[in-house]
Amino acid sequence: MSQHSQVAIIGGGTGGLCLAQALRRAGVSVAVYERSRTRSERLQGYRVHINPQGSQALHECLPAERWQAFVDTCGTSGGAFGFVTEQLDELMLIEDELTSGVERDPTRAHHSVSRITLHQVLSAGLDGVLHHDKEFRHYSRGPDGTVTCQFADGTTATADVLVGADGAASRVRAQYLPHAERVDTGIKTIAGKFPLTERTRKLLPARIVDGPNTVLPPRGCGMFIAPHDLGDGIAVTADGIGGNDATLTHDTVLFDNTTSYVMWVYAAADHHYPADVALSDLDGRQLRDLVGRMIADWHPALRRLVADSPAQSVSLLPIRTSVPVARWESTNITLLGDAIHSMTPFRGIGANTALRDATLLARNLIAAFRGERGLLDAISDYEIQMTGYGFAAVRDSLRTAKQFISDNRTGRRMFRIVLRFFSAVPPLKRRAFSDQGNK
Ligand SMILES: Cc1cc2nc3c(=O)[nH]c(=O)nc-3n(C[C@H](O)[C@H](O)[C@H](O)COP(=O)(O)OP(=O)(O)OC[C@H]3O[C@@H](n4cnc5c(N)ncnc54)[C@H](O)[C@@H]3O)c2cc1C
Repeated sequence: MSQHSQVAIIGGGTGGLCLAQALRRAGVSVAVYERSRTRSERLQGYRVHINPQGSQALHECLPAERWQAFVDTCGTSGGAFGFVTEQLDELMLIEDELTSGVERDPTRAHHSVSRITLHQVLSAGLDGVLHHDKEFRHYSRGPDGTVTCQFADGTTATADVLVGADGAASRVRAQYLPHAERVDTGIKTIAGKFPLTERTRKLLPARIVDGPNTVLPPRGCGMFIAPHDLGDGIAVTADGIGGNDATLTHDTVLFDNTTSYVMWVYAAADHHYPADVALSDLDGRQLRDLVGRMIADWHPALRRLVADSPAQSVSLLPIRTSVPVARWESTNITLLGDAIHSMTPFRGIGANTALRDATLLARNLIAAFRGERGLLDAISDYEIQMTGYGFAAVRDSLRTAKQFISDNRTGRRMFRIVLRFFSAVPPLKRRAFSDQGNK
């Protein structure tokens, strides 16, 4: 028999689960349909940076004890955000106080969280709400206005409101807004994780271990580096590095969320990579070796970071982005997160934007189901706001991505000069970067 709920959410990822938590707390009947068979399937063990806006969203949506569990399980990204050259010369540091990183109130602070831990926190307490192994195929509308979803296993579910939270390749979006496009940016990233142990910590300069950095070589590519540090006292399972790949299985590297590490992401335009190599055919070891060759004249510590990352942690990520679409007429079907405004990861705000969507949509739907406003008015108001800030974030992330891999040597030199100038004039730097905390 088909299940009926007030709200059906397709996709139990960051945004969908956050929305479900908030609706459930408010007594709205909600069901989440997630295609993965188990909690950890498809999750990649990379850190997610939660900014103050994301923290506020989680605080608002989660029950108090789960919010506390989130705070208790976060690692730190360390302190100041650095811009450095490929020789690790410091161009500029944005200190904690400028990004509210020293904020004592966790609801207004930055957090570094393992993607796995975040999903564990978000899916806890959703028994009877979160249904795994439910791959959404398509929906149909009933004569009474309800929406019925069809799943790959032959079952169906009906709801008054359907929310597509099924990520960047959303099938709900493909059916609901077939003209909404997602395109290749022509940028490819290769990412890996360098395990941080008592021993390996000493092998890297403090700047790499102490906080996130953007590495800006003269042209054509860039690297983002960020520590995810759980501190002392937490079991570290991956202490063999560099030539000791055999001790690490794919699962311990990708699905273990108890280790500290430094994540690195090398990015370049397609034409910057060797023309005779099909990147998608390379395994982790080959990808790691390729990055090693491409940064052969960089500072030895950066080369070590890459060379000593277990091959199983290294993966290729082609960068795609959504193309903003014009406003559509609101109905009882809507979208959130990557399903509507997927963006390049270069600003690190995709998950934070999905959490913002979840909070706003939850508020509006709760008000509608309490009879305080009309349902279509609630969804329309959500969509007007969400498409405004969501597509602004898409454009902003694409602009940052293009700057990151820019081939323009003069432009890059100018940017480096500007960073050094800001660094030398603290009041100017404060004015330019004191709003970064909410981005
Ligand atoms: C390398 C990398 C680093 C990033 N770092 C950051 C960061 O530091 N900070 C930040 O804010 N953002 C970051 N992001 C972006 C962030 O991960 C995404 O924007 C965020 O996860 C989007 O959340 P979502 O809920 O919209 O989608 P997702 O979290 O992708 O969830 C979608 C869910 O839908 C499910 N699903 C898909 N299709 C179906 C179907 N047909 N039926 C049922 N279920 C389905 C999927 O299995 C998944 O569970 C990063 C992204 C990448 C790639």
